[in-house]
Amino acid sequence: MKFRKVVTLAMAAVLGAALLTGCGSSTQDTQDNAAEGNTTASAESTVPTVTEGKLIMATNAYFPPYEYYEGSQIVGIDVEIAEAIGEKLGLEVEVQDMEFDSIITAVATGKADLGLAGMTVTPERRQNVNFSDTYATGIQSVIVKEDSDIQTIDDLQGKKIGVQLSTTGDIKASEDFGEENVEKFNKGNDAVLALTQDRVDAVIIDNQPALSFVASNDGLKILDTQYVEEEYAACIAKDNEELLDAVNGALAELKEDGTIQSILDKYLVAE
Ligand code: GLN
Repeated sequence: MKFRKVVTLAMAAVLGAALLTGCGSSTQDTQDNAAEGNTTASAESTVPTVTEGKLIMATNAYFPPYEYYEGSQIVGIDVEIAEAIGEKLGLEVEVQDMEFDSIITAVATGKADLGLAGMTVTPERRQNVNFSDTYATGIQSVIVKEDSDIQTIDDLQGKKIGVQLSTTGDIKASEDFGEENVEKFNKGNDAVLALTQDRVDAVIIDNQPALSFVASNDGLKILDTQYVEEEYAACIAKDNEELLDAVNGALAELKEDGTIQSILDKYLVAE
């Protein structure tokens, strides 16, 4: 294995093109291509990924406008950012929808290359995955019914609060208002549905999905108070620093040339 890598490195150097593929990919194919001087291989990515040539993105597609279904297709800010990164790295993006709670495990155990899910960088998550540079910010918002007596964060004491399982909204609400007062749902939509049916008194969720849920459900409003501010980034397996560097490199270019901003502008809902 070590020998193969040395051979491949030498060939890449000789060809002046990066023809390396990484763990789990077909080293033999690359060597064959290199040996034949197959120049079409230069379009291939040099970054090691779970499946050669692919960038598998784990997400939870119930978090508009970052990721959501349009018909059978998953679209949104994170999908477009992944595609822009994929284009830079010569990787084809494959989106895998799963529970939010499963994303970090999927990435840490090598089932997906990166998690892009409006995911907030937290010290606890950093114990299991690396985070890329940040590309957006979020704020935890409180959704209530229009006629609710809840007007401030303090009014949430003793109330039933709906959250999405394992999100920062869940973690913060459980810390501040007690686990027994927090109802955890797999999807943000389900928490909002519970609010419309009076099964919870409020929902704590990131501001952008909050705006989107309020726009698509009558009789709801967002409290005019900001709970917690957060930074979103892609999570990547700790043992794939090459991918982390490549994603950060791509993100820097995409920030620099205005691509990230134009993707955000295309989707973000005005407050
Ligand atoms: N930003 C929140 C978190 O990281 C929620 C993300 C989500 O629900 N997709 O926990």
